[in-house]
Amino acid sequence: MNQAKSLRIALAGNPNSGKTTLFNAITGARHHVGNWPGVTVEKKEGTTSLNGVVIDVVDLPGTYSLTAYSIEEIVARRFIVHDKPDVVVHVIDASNLERNLFLTTQLLQLGSKVVLALNMSDALEQTGASIDAHKLGSLLGAPAVFTVGHKGAGIADLLETVVEVAEGKHPMVRQVRIPYGHEIESHLDPLTERAEALDLFEIPHPPRWVTIKALENDQELIDEVSESGESGVRFLEEIKETRDHLYSLYGEEPETVFTERLYGFVAGILKEVYTEPPLDRISRSDQIDSVLTHKIFGLPVFFLMVWGVFQLTFAVGAAPMDWIDAFVAWIAGFASANMDDGLFKSLIVDGIISGVGSVMIFLPNIFILFMCISFLEDSGYMARAAFLTDRVMHLLGLHGKAFIPMLMGFGCNAPAIMATRTLESERDRILSILINPLMSCSARLPVYVLITGAFFAPEQAGTVIFSIYLLGLVLAIAMGRLFSKTVLPGKAAPFVMELPPYRLPTGRGLLIHTWDRGKIFIRKMGGVILVGSIVIWTLSTFPQEVELSKDYDAEIARVQEQLDVDTSQQGANGTLDQKIADLEIAKESERVEKSYIGRIGKVLEPVFRPLEFDWRSAVGLLTGFVAKEIVVSTMGVLYQVGPEEDEESEGLIEALRNSDMTPLTSYAFMAFVLIYTPCLGTIAVIRRETNSLKWTAFSVGYAVLLAWIVAFAIVRVGSLIGLG
Ligand code: GDP
Ligand code: MG
Repeated sequence: MNQAKSLRIALAGNPNSGKTTLFNAITGARHHVGNWPGVTVEKKEGTTSLNGVVIDVVDLPGTYSLTAYSIEEIVARRFIVHDKPDVVVHVIDASNLERNLFLTTQLLQLGSKVVLALNMSDALEQTGASIDAHKLGSLLGAPAVFTVGHKGAGIADLLETVVEVAEGKHPMVRQVRIPYGHEIESHLDPLTERAEALDLFEIPHPPRWVTIKALENDQELIDEVSESGESGVRFLEEIKETRDHLYSLYGEEPETVFTERLYGFVAGILKEVYTEPPLDRISRSDQIDSVLTHKIFGLPVFFLMVWGVFQLTFAVGAAPMDWIDAFVAWIAGFASANMDDGLFKSLIVDGIISGVGSVMIFLPNIFILFMCISFLEDSGYMARAAFLTDRVMHLLGLHGKAFIPMLMGFGCNAPAIMATRTLESERDRILSILINPLMSCSARLPVYVLITGAFFAPEQAGTVIFSIYLLGLVLAIAMGRLFSKTVLPGKAAPFVMELPPYRLPTGRGLLIHTWDRGKIFIRKMGGVILVGSIVIWTLSTFPQEVELSKDYDAEIARVQEQLDVDTSQQGANGTLDQKIADLEIAKESERVEKSYIGRIGKVLEPVFRPLEFDWRSAVGLLTGFVAKEIVVSTMGVLYQVGPEEDEESEGLIEALRNSDMTPLTSYAFMAFVLIYTPCLGTIAVIRRETNSLKWTAFSVGYAVLLAWIVAFAIVRVGSLIGLG
């Protein structure tokens, strides 16, 4: 009895059921984080002990089900089947029992010894509902314990139960068979006998589970069986016959019928163990949902909400934007006043301060947008967005689950493209990756803010920018449709839609999530934007000695002389002083035009001429390949051509207004920025995630082409209907 014993347990459960919180509460600091072999899904392992028993704990990836539709599901069930943990602890969000029990039924089918951790029991209590844990445990043959993860409540009880179950001493534990009804059972029994004889990698799989999964056409399992020799192949033939038979009987795929049976079983359990909250408190979530996920109003409300987010972003962002603007101007003024004239001063003031400063101004907008997105996510509304958009997503050959990576694309396309890993089929993934860059990432926001600030009235700005985002969505749908009919034929795989209950997000959680996303921008400003600004400054400053069309210096000197004589003109606007300023601007403009960057722009100009973009815009778009914010800093550098002494300069916006751009071409420019490839970082991620140069090249190529076509269409159609 005193001999050191050890056992291994795995934590399974839906995402957000509190698995990781419980894991941390159980293992404390004694854990380490790695990856599951061969995939990029996080694996957490740790230990604890109870009365001399060492308990190893593994945190399985969060899943709603144990089909083979996603990497997470495959990792979780492989671990349970192949590594055979002594006990599987199913962490359940008790305030959401019905949805969570679906996974329990599948864990039971895997033949594991299961202990149910009824977590979030505090939230359950708040709703006024209650669960009869004892009855639940007896019905499922798996004891249930209440826990509150972040408070550590119930952990000791949970661990004691786990040890008892592992040692075979718990009276409740028994194998419960989930009934599928006479007809299906009559096929399951003989097939299960056959499955028992299969030699699946020499690991005994639960035979009834093998049969059920094979009948459900579970690819992972079918591959395993077909590789197990001749008996496996014959078994699969029989499975196929039975599938056909069941199909003709029910007029539906067997997997659909089987899923219905599991839900039926769950509904039955619920009736026995779950007491609904008193009527007046009946799930506020449901009431909210009756509006927010309403068949007709749902989508309009969703768009209204997104539109509101943009309004908020710009209304609240305006004041801090002015402060940062003033701050940058002050720094620039300070540097100009205190540095000796020359190249170094120009690098600091015209290159770095004006390049980095022009992006820094947009930090408030970006942080407010991120804060709004975090709020929608933490409150549970984002999941509804996936639900609402499911129908729309089907239009483009994907389903609602693929909407989450698309939403994340509004933040940053790189992690969003990585998030497509949760999609089941390769086809779904590639399709999602191809259209993701059309979701306007926040790096593009500074460009929109700048341009709308220059060419549209402040009251219109939010709506104009919203329309750009909408354009991205519409194009994503169009391209998705096109691709799923041409290069990526097929249809989306089915999945269970998850609707977590609404929660009021905590301020702390909001701040953490906002900061996690926003800090990337701060890092970028010190990195790629700083370097980009220096490179662009260099290209626009050299060569220094260029031949100008006339001798500006001599002309300036002449006017200066005149001014010295006629002192009455000094300081008066629109006169000699002004003339000098104009001459200096003209000189500087011509010099930049003849610099390296100007020459590059001129080479590119013909490509953009049909879009009515000038060479400065061309250069901006070119440098934007590195990162979208650089479009703004490039313009910052290219247009900061006024004399430095001019402290009253109204900056980039004023310079843009004086350029050849019109509201129409500026809108086409924004559309171009929206559509063509987001940035080098995203291209690298696409390369990694598709593992194919061909798809990467396709993604970049189609985007540039589409950008050109759409911008062209905007300019042409716009001038036709008299907007130009
Ligand atoms: P996982 O996705 O299953 O690993 O879930 P996490 O452990 O990350 O938890 C998701 C959220 O639920 C976190 O914000 C936790 O603080 C919270 N949480 C975890 N356990 C409980 C609980 O028992 N009660 C309540 N109210 N919240 C909890
Ligand atoms: Mg987790």
